[in-house]
Amino acid sequence: MDEVIRVEGLTKNFGQLQVLRGIDCSVKSKEVVCVIGPSGSGKSTFLRCLNGLEEPQGGRIDICGRTLVNEGQMMGDKELNALREEVGMVFQSFNLFPHLSVIDNVTLGPRKLHNMSRKDADALAHDLLKKVGLGHKAEAMPASLSGGQKQRVAIARALAMRPKVMLFDEPTSALDPELVGEVLQVMKMLAAEGMTMMVVTHEMGFAKEVADGVVVMDGGGIIEAGDPNTIFSNPS
Ligand code: ADP
Ligand code: MG
Repeated sequence: MDEVIRVEGLTKNFGQLQVLRGIDCSVKSKEVVCVIGPSGSGKSTFLRCLNGLEEPQGGRIDICGRTLVNEGQMMGDKELNALREEVGMVFQSFNLFPHLSVIDNVTLGPRKLHNMSRKDADALAHDLLKKVGLGHKAEAMPASLSGGQKQRVAIARALAMRPKVMLFDEPTSALDPELVGEVLQVMKMLAAEGMTMMVVTHEMGFAKEVADGVVVMDGGGIIEAGDPNTIFSNPS
């Protein structure tokens, strides 16, 4: 069907340590899937495999209509670079470029990778910054922003590449509690617009409200998967 992500038998080792023990999972177009589970269960490693930041040992990943990994073999670098433009990623720690203004953080990708003119890139960035509630911060430097504002810039930056899917790795875990809501609000808006999303999160309220599917990881495997109502009210 219209699956944007399909993962079969994905395994990943760091040296002797098996961190992913055969992950099977799929995400359809416009679905939001939340990944939950204790620290060290392999959530970040799984997400990183989905845009080729980690090289798995085995299994298969199809994403955005391309085969990223087949029998543990990754696609070539050129293809990988093209794929990464379609797979947006937002990290816990924002990872903004500290020496660039907010708008330059957002326009860098489209200008360098999509050869967009500065004028067009600036217009796109202004639209996206407005969308995440930061239209007034275009000229600010990242250091002057709150954590919640930084993360919203990071989301705008990812969206500037017009991704087909967005991966979020604990996007609110580094934030003071009073700043969590503004970031979740932006993510809810993206979900409502039909963005396909995979979100590692501890925010159970968000998962219950927004997720179409919830995946529970433990010890490098998926121990449960289903719709949020079943997972939260009737966990096996
Ligand atoms: P989670 O995101 O669920 O907390 P991670 O995917 O970060 O889990 O980590 C899963 C396991 O893999 C942990 O035991 C962690 O220590 C280990 N691990 C993660 N990254 C590396 C790495 N680059 N080298 C070695 N071990 C790693
Ligand atoms: Mg993690």
